[in-house]
Amino acid sequence: MQEPTTEPKTFQEAILYFADRNRCIDYLALRRWPNGMPACPVCGRTDAKFLEKQGKWQCKAVHHHRQFSVKVGTVMEDSAIPLEKWLPAVWAIVNDKNGISSWELHRTLGVTQKTAWFMLHRIRMGMSLQDKHKKTGKGFGPSKIGDGGKGNGNGAVEVDETFVGGKLRNMHRDRRARFAAESGHTGGATGKTVVLGMLDREAREIRAKVVPNVKRETLQNEVLNNVKYGTKIYTDDAVPYDKLHWRYVHEVVNHAEEYVRGQVHTNGLENFWSLLKRGLKGTYVAVEPFHLERYVDEQVLKSPQVARSGCLLSPILRAFANALRGVSNPRMA
Ligand SMILES: [Zn+2]
Repeated sequence: MQEPTTEPKTFQEAILYFADRNRCIDYLALRRWPNGMPACPVCGRTDAKFLEKQGKWQCKAVHHHRQFSVKVGTVMEDSAIPLEKWLPAVWAIVNDKNGISSWELHRTLGVTQKTAWFMLHRIRMGMSLQDKHKKTGKGFGPSKIGDGGKGNGNGAVEVDETFVGGKLRNMHRDRRARFAAESGHTGGATGKTVVLGMLDREAREIRAKVVPNVKRETLQNEVLNNVKYGTKIYTDDAVPYDKLHWRYVHEVVNHAEEYVRGQVHTNGLENFWSLLKRGLKGTYVAVEPFHLERYVDEQVLKSPQVARSGCLLSPILRAFANALRGVSNPRMA
């Protein structure tokens, strides 16, 4: 399979680029399977026959469900929306710094508002690779960040929290109660949602997630679950962090007295918060903590801090791959 040489640079270009069904199939296949060789989701064979008319493959082994499409095992699997709509949407979400709205998708792609909304949330679901780990309670990622005090001190981790939204109080009382019950997020006294962030300066890795409150137990446990013991940690002087010195080399930034004391600052995260909030401005994701969670994941993947990491994939490619990763189909998990 041949990969087209020039990738789109604007949403309009992406729409044209992905207007051809077979190009969409090739594009996805190359990103999903080694060498673009489709693997049968039932038996794993990689020599399936492509059925031009259906745009599907048929496995050569004899078993049930021999035919499969490139959507199998992705967030797109159970929808009838064509790839020619899905791929430009993924492209736009991954490439647009400010986060595209369902309204924009609806207008530009020519799908209904309902469809645009559905796509947006499915794609964000695919992008939130941290989900699985959140559910297991083992922190955000497969491993901990920080240098565990073994390195040269460059592996410091900034920890900081921020408040987003505040529109929760404007919600109807019943609805608010339902959100609180379902999500465990009460929004606190201020009606804002708390996002906790951690930045490993050396690895350039950001971890951020919505947390239910700013209690010591909540924030401290997240740090314990995500940062290697012994690592140098920089936080502000907020009370929830006051016991971190038991496990870490803890240095405190006092915003009231001095903004930056040498290496001791949380400016990396401050930058991330401002990007996050700029993107949220004028959108309604902030209203519901569930949506905010997806949005935070999306921003983590696109953040310039992550872009400078030594990963093989550019953040955009990585985000694309994650957006397409199957979460709806346990066979592919
Ligand atoms: Zn098979």
